[in-house]
Amino acid sequence: MNMAHQKVTASHLKRQAYCYVRQSTLKQVFENTESTKRQYALRERAIALGWPVVQIVTIDSDLGETATSVADRQGFQKLMTEVSLGRVGLVMGLEVSRLARNNADWARLLEICAITDTLILDEEGIYNPTDFNDRLLLNMKGTFSEVELHMLRSRLRGGILSKARRGELKTRLPTGFVYDHNDKVIIDPDKQIQQSIRLFFDIFQRTGAAFATVKAFATDDMKFPCRMHLGPDKGKVKWQRLTSGRALVILNNPRYAGAYYYGRQRSRKNVDGSTTYFQVPRDQWLVLIKDIHPGYITWEHYEENLRRMRQNAIAYNLIDRKTPPREGPCLLQGLAVCGKCGQRMTIRYKYQRKGRIEPAYLCQRNRIERWESSCQYIPGAGIDEAISKLLIESVTPLTLEVALEVQQELENRFNEADKLRKQQVQRAEYEANLARRRFMQVDPDNRLVADTLEAEWNEKLRHLQDANDYYEKHRQKESEKLKSAQKKEVLKLAKDFPRLWKNPRTPAREKKRMIRFLIEDVTMIRGEENITLHVRFKGGAKKTLTLPPPLKGWQYNATDPKIVQMVDELLTDHNYAEIATILDKRGYKSSQGNRFDRNVVKSITYKYKLKTRFARLRATGKLTADEVASLLGVTAQTVRKWGKEGTIKTYPYNDRNGCLYEHPGVNSPLMKK
Ligand SMILES: [Zn+2]
Repeated sequence: MNMAHQKVTASHLKRQAYCYVRQSTLKQVFENTESTKRQYALRERAIALGWPVVQIVTIDSDLGETATSVADRQGFQKLMTEVSLGRVGLVMGLEVSRLARNNADWARLLEICAITDTLILDEEGIYNPTDFNDRLLLNMKGTFSEVELHMLRSRLRGGILSKARRGELKTRLPTGFVYDHNDKVIIDPDKQIQQSIRLFFDIFQRTGAAFATVKAFATDDMKFPCRMHLGPDKGKVKWQRLTSGRALVILNNPRYAGAYYYGRQRSRKNVDGSTTYFQVPRDQWLVLIKDIHPGYITWEHYEENLRRMRQNAIAYNLIDRKTPPREGPCLLQGLAVCGKCGQRMTIRYKYQRKGRIEPAYLCQRNRIERWESSCQYIPGAGIDEAISKLLIESVTPLTLEVALEVQQELENRFNEADKLRKQQVQRAEYEANLARRRFMQVDPDNRLVADTLEAEWNEKLRHLQDANDYYEKHRQKESEKLKSAQKKEVLKLAKDFPRLWKNPRTPAREKKRMIRFLIEDVTMIRGEENITLHVRFKGGAKKTLTLPPPLKGWQYNATDPKIVQMVDELLTDHNYAEIATILDKRGYKSSQGNRFDRNVVKSITYKYKLKTRFARLRATGKLTADEVASLLGVTAQTVRKWGKEGTIKTYPYNDRNGCLYEHPGVNSPLMKK
């Protein structure tokens, strides 16, 4: 106590004494009256050291919270603030290092205590952090505390995992299953629940879609059972409407196929102290044991359901990740990114006349999710052309098939080696677990045996660590090798890419496969003036293309201006049928790629507002049959007859014998007769 008195000065006593209470779970708060007593004793000591009762403050706002980072503990932060402001003369706590459950927090507290000359008190003594020896001791206490916590945790985790690996760890069961008195999983004995779930799987099998299943339940006004996991009705079954969200959860849950799983979800701590949960792919689940308890469907059936759901998602374009190439001419399917909102764009095919398919890129996320208007619509024909051109210009050496095969081969080899190495890790893990179990089972009083077993356990753990290191190192090295090998192959990609590309017999699907090999993605922005494409190649190269604005509907069938001009010229001396024959002979094709006929020529004439043949003839003073008739005092019929006989010169203006006549002038056919 003398030593203690030496450390406490008048300056300390003027400031406050903080008693920091920290208990990690609510259960501890209720049950651990013992530690409350000990904390009370600490207060007594502070009073004995000379602090007035009114100056002793208890901080216990962390009660009932478990946390290893300062971010989510207000009490500790308040303590830090008060200490750093120099208002605190003494910090008290049971096993002070537990004040801060991670070492960084603890080190910071010590540092600030040293700067502000704040003393620290626990059941074992009083420390002055400005004193080197005291600080060393406090630091060590912190380290030990962290080690202890770590050991506790890993033992706990190891225990949980090995139980899960045997499929014995009890997890929350989905509706339709219960634990019996032996903790075995059985199908819920409630016949109504059983029937509903069986019906659910039956309807899905029949319709093949979760949405259709939901609809079927809704139409017949059937409710679906749901076991409550929270709230006052915990454990009871409620009958609710089936939603598509819930249907998907059920279809995805392997327990309905009688399988046990563990570790399907992982979590990640964020900087702000919150936690993000995410699901990992099946090959990364920690445990999956098939056929461990009775199920509603077989494992094959389960897999089949997953496959069908996936197909549906692809069919409705719900998967916004890169999708594998499918039929259809749109080259950038799955690679197009909306330049306005950053979502993947989907594709619409519009069927034009004569079997032509017109692709378009569409950003419609908003529409699917919130029924708002879609964000961008970009006709795709011009885009595909521009991308083709860009590829032919920038990709020279390419033999695709070879490259693809080589890549596949490399991947296979990598996977096999990886599997072998992984097995080594698993064996080491198994042995370490075995050693641990042996150690745990031994009577702690039997020191000699316990020590040996502990040493053995440590040895095995070291082995496991080595195996793991080796595995990770190789995995990384190999995958890097794989990457560089891939790059080489892409570079080698045969010389005749342009030939392969231009070959009309190369199917669209193949072209899309090639594109995926070369292009990472294409961001599209449709502006007022033009369409901008930002192309990202594999390997990082970038290229920006600017395209003219999309054509208006009528422009799609636009005729080559050269042909329009020719028609214009030919109209002076020829009718539509003749012009069609002439153009055909010269080897021209219509905008639709067909042979010319008189209707096409006629439609060009009207569409481009060319002067018709009739107008041209009239302009040069040619007369109609009636005009000639009245001029000569005969009937129009006579004029037509003369025309047929060749007595008077005719100028046909259409293909239905419509014609104009030359002005008879002085050389009237009557005169000739
Ligand atoms: Zn968009």
